[in-house]
Amino acid sequence: SSFSDMKLTEIIQNNVALTKYTKPTPVQKYALPFIMAKRDLMACAQTGSGKTAAFLVPILNQIYEGGPSQIKNNNQRGRSKQYPLALVLAPTRELATQIYEESRKFAYRAHVRTCVVYGGADVVSQMRDLSRGCHLLVATPGRLVDMIDRGKIGLDNCMYLVLDEADRMLDMGFEPQIRRIVEEDYMPEVGVRQTLMFSATFPKEIQRLAQDFLANYIFLAV
Ligand code: AMP
Repeated sequence: SSFSDMKLTEIIQNNVALTKYTKPTPVQKYALPFIMAKRDLMACAQTGSGKTAAFLVPILNQIYEGGPSQIKNNNQRGRSKQYPLALVLAPTRELATQIYEESRKFAYRAHVRTCVVYGGADVVSQMRDLSRGCHLLVATPGRLVDMIDRGKIGLDNCMYLVLDEADRMLDMGFEPQIRRIVEEDYMPEVGVRQTLMFSATFPKEIQRLAQDFLANYIFLAV
């Protein structure tokens, strides 16, 4: 199988081709069709498995296929508060940056703007970047809560939610921030939004999070 069998829209297909990923990795091959079919997903996958492209490609494809009105939405250049259509939560600055860099490759020329925010870096320059427009936001949980409290981000339009390295986020003590973001801050409800969770391990705490955040989900172990 190859990416060209996956019914991606032309521009996203071309962006995948530019990355020179010719053969999908197992997590990409198995997860992509379910994500494109709008199913929720719990995937046990390690770093290095290609999980980042496995969620970014189908989400960007869906955003792009939603058309110009969805892309325009409330996410407009020059507005100080942005309403991303997709949110990716990641445990660390390093991982968030990697996901963001990958997202830029796949969003190339698709008029989909991606941004990243994380702690330990200048909040003003991150706010300035957000105000240029944000369709897909990659964030660490603490800095995202800060941006929400500052009135810079609203989650009302967030139809795609990804928790990447969920086990690591819980190990780092982010569960209260994650629950606030997902359960208290105007995020569309379970079953309305599409939610994808990735985790290297599947202990009780992750199973509970999956029960709370996912609807009728596919379980994938690669
Ligand atoms: P990840 O597990 O998402 O962190 O990806 C691990 C590495 O594999 C990254 O450097 C990706 O750029 C690369 N990669 C992802 N998918 C593919 C693919 N289908 N073919 C070749 N390399 C890939």
